[in-house]
Amino acid sequence: MSSPTATFSLKQRNAALSSPEQQQQLLNSVALSHTAHQADFGATLAAHNWAALTPTQLEIFQINLGKLCNMTCRHCHVDAGPDRKEVMDRTTIDHCLRALDQTEAHTVDLTGGAPELNPHFRYLVEQAVMRGKHVIDRCNLTVLLLPRMEDLPAWLAELGVEVVCSLPHYRQQNTDAQRGDGTFEQSMIALNRLNAVGYGKGNPDRQLTLVSNPIGTSLSANQAQLEQEWKAGLLQNHGITFDRLITINNMPISRHLEDLESSGNLQAYLELLVNAFSACTIKGLMCRNTISVSWDGRLFDCDFNQMLNLEIQQPGTQRPHIRDFQLDGLAGRQIMTGRHCFGCTAGAGSSCGGAIA
Ligand code: SF4
Ligand code: SF4
Repeated sequence: MSSPTATFSLKQRNAALSSPEQQQQLLNSVALSHTAHQADFGATLAAHNWAALTPTQLEIFQINLGKLCNMTCRHCHVDAGPDRKEVMDRTTIDHCLRALDQTEAHTVDLTGGAPELNPHFRYLVEQAVMRGKHVIDRCNLTVLLLPRMEDLPAWLAELGVEVVCSLPHYRQQNTDAQRGDGTFEQSMIALNRLNAVGYGKGNPDRQLTLVSNPIGTSLSANQAQLEQEWKAGLLQNHGITFDRLITINNMPISRHLEDLESSGNLQAYLELLVNAFSACTIKGLMCRNTISVSWDGRLFDCDFNQMLNLEIQQPGTQRPHIRDFQLDGLAGRQIMTGRHCFGCTAGAGSSCGGAIA
């Protein structure tokens, strides 16, 4: 069974927006002077008594294992795909582990691309579990159907890894539209396999979390309500159970940014995000308790900044790299922000852990 394909990567198409700098330029060029604080994220924070966004205690160590993916979804903020060969090497993974040992982070959050396609994925998971960390595998589900991944659900279950699976919708049409024909069917098979090894049945060592993101240009709907709806829908129609649903807004980055621009929806979407700014989300923004490492070992405040090439600003250090990791040096930094940040503060807020407020 081959993996679904919705589009091609920006890089493969040699599209202008494959450049993070072009993406930033486009975001900043949208006419938004009529919105509050001219859609300046820093000014918006200041108006709510936040002189700058600063980190709290580091709790989540997020590692992006690479841009390689078996899929090519329309809304992908990573511009991942089968043509992307950038994956984290073993040396950089060992740097990550040494850095992790300097912190009290309780969670190691593995993302990509499809993190499972990195040849060192299992080594990293084992090492993180050995250190007593809660490990999250951000899984696109269809990857579990690749022949060499057959034993992966049971292996993840044995190590107590939380599997956080993207599934835009519990109905086929909506999911396939965004992620490619056949995604839904393959996702149901993968979820059944996860259920069969004990995931999604209330066992804290076999946590199965689903991630929903809106189709089109709306904000995420109410997370708690959607969870009830999804639990009923998946159980009734497919006999599938899961533990929790989290909702994430689509970020105006990479392929989603291209989609918004080419469909003429970019200005309206940014207006929607800016107008839906909610100050009560600021405190819980994920960049405050997370650090994000790119496949080549560079450090970022979050995965979104990583895709826009907005590197961490560590006082006294240029281009901080995981091999030189110093927790103390990072504590005093200011988090890099831009217009894309309105995607995290809109409505109930949005983060890798779902709604914030
Ligand atoms: S959204 Fe996820 S599954 Fe889809 S192409 Fe991007 S990384 Fe791969
Ligand atoms: S994109 Fe979101 S998580 Fe990243 S720096 Fe901006 S507000 Fe923080």
